[in-house]
Order: sequence, then C-alpha cells, then structure tokens
Amino acid sequence: MTQTAALSADAAAPGCRAGCGGCCIAPSISSPIPGMPNGKPAGVRCVQLDDDNLCKLFGTPQRPAVCGDFDFDHELCGDSREEALRLIGEWERLT
Ligand code: SF4
Ligand code: SF4
Repeated sequence: MTQTAALSADAAAPGCRAGCGGCCIAPSISSPIPGMPNGKPAGVRCVQLDDDNLCKLFGTPQRPAVCGDFDFDHELCGDSREEALRLIGEWERLT
C-alpha cells in the first residue's frame, strides 16, 4: 500500500492527495504524537511528517487515533495543498 501523509492517510480515503499533508499541518491535534507529547498547535508541521509530506507513523500503533478520523472532505481539502491549508486553517479558527 502506498503511504500517504494524510490524517485520513490511507489509500482507502478516496480523493486524498498523497504527499499533500495539509491536515498534518493546519489543524491543532490534542493527542500526544511521538516527538510532540502535548500534541501540536494549529499551523505547526507535525514532526512525523517527512520531507515528502508522508506520515512516518502510517500503519504503526504509534500513529494517533485521531489521525485516522480525518477523511478526505472536499470542503476542507480543496483542490490543492495550499487550499487545504487555508480551508482547514479557517475551519480551525471557527471551531
Ligand atoms: S488535507 Fe485532505 S487531501 Fe490533504 S492529506 Fe489531508 S485528507 Fe488528504
Ligand atoms: S502523526 Fe503527524 S504526520 Fe502522521 S498522520 Fe498524524 S499528524 Fe499526520
């Protein structure tokens, strides 16, 4: 299976763009992430996102459960990484 960066992060999430990683940067994550024990603030790149914007923890038990809960949603993911960062960032500010 191809590894992708998304919080939805698997090929089972139709529409998710491998190497996007927008949802690993834009939202805040309150669960502990290996290397980020307090989670991460909005707009901060997850330390587990590699240089290709793929999740280093994909398929491992160390990957936070919340990362699997975010499915591709065109309203949040848009048509590009830049759009995803903007749209998820706006959503984050409203919630
Ligand atoms: S922001 Fe959307 S398209 Fe980008 S990696 Fe996350 S789920 Fe996939
Ligand atoms: S652990 Fe980090 S890089 Fe991996 S899916 Fe979650 S937020 Fe993205």
